[in-house]
Amino acid sequence: MNLRWLLVLWVFPVAFCSGEDLFDIKPVADGVYAAIAKPAFRVNSNAAIILLDDGVLVVDTHSKPSAARALIEQIKGLTPKPVKFVVNTHFHYDHYQGNEAYPSAWPGGIEIISSEATRANIQRLGIPRMQNEIVTLPGQITSLKNDLAKASTAEQKNKIQYNIRQAEAYLGELKTMQVTLPTLTFERSLILYRPSRRVEILWLGRAHTDGDVFVFLPKEKVLVTGDAMQGRTPFMGDSYPYEWIQTLDAAEKLDFDFVIGGHGDVMHGKERFELWKRYFQDLLDQTASAYSQGASLDDAKKTVSEFLIKKYADKFDPAFPQSVLGNISKAYQVIALAR
Ligand SMILES: [Zn+2]
Repeated sequence: MNLRWLLVLWVFPVAFCSGEDLFDIKPVADGVYAAIAKPAFRVNSNAAIILLDDGVLVVDTHSKPSAARALIEQIKGLTPKPVKFVVNTHFHYDHYQGNEAYPSAWPGGIEIISSEATRANIQRLGIPRMQNEIVTLPGQITSLKNDLAKASTAEQKNKIQYNIRQAEAYLGELKTMQVTLPTLTFERSLILYRPSRRVEILWLGRAHTDGDVFVFLPKEKVLVTGDAMQGRTPFMGDSYPYEWIQTLDAAEKLDFDFVIGGHGDVMHGKERFELWKRYFQDLLDQTASAYSQGASLDDAKKTVSEFLIKKYADKFDPAFPQSVLGNISKAYQVIALAR
């Protein structure tokens, strides 16, 4: 822990000790921080906090405005500078639904930046998904309440009660949310030039979605990746698996040492990029081979997961054996003739 960090803790203890403290703030380079999200009922993305000469740039806004507000309090503990730029790496709910907190905190002074594709995706897909959640979440809360009635141990009861409280609070936030779209979009790259720092916001190809952007700090050798590269098992539901491999190749051409992903801890170097590329290639090859032998989706899930779990389970998070099934469905859907 360096002196500056001690000073931050000493001067702003409230922000770091409050119950609202949803993120662990980790210094990555001078004036660059990773906000690593703690577990929550609806997952919050990590954020990157990049201090500029005249303001702050924040990457991603989590699943709800209250989480973004909690991070804003933590940012105020790091710097008196205002947040001027917010970047949405892609359109998934856990990366943009907190957007409204920033213009609320700094009215008139915020640009929310994304690729053109991400802005369109929020309108076409993000908003209906959010509205669907408002309609379906009460049913999930009812089934949690049924589980609570059946729970036998105090520990189980506490856990379920906690989830019910979180779900009800989340539902309340969704109902009052002001969907806040990006205000500044680009197709390939947008570069911020400041005397002390250069921030490159880059679209390098389709990957986790068609609109993923990377935020690259060439001088500090830091790359912020959203969910195109993160610490857990890749989520592939909206992805372009073959192109994702090429996009990771393009990202690896950048000169970086530290990677702030959308989830999980700060990563180092390019090792995990290589791991994901091998994993995608194996997933696609194995699924194609199963399909070419006439396998149904259920057959493919069985044989391909066996192969992938054996080879990769110890390299991903504990949920890998379940997550891999969704990835096999996606690969099958990409490869198989739609009927
Ligand atoms: Zn995502």
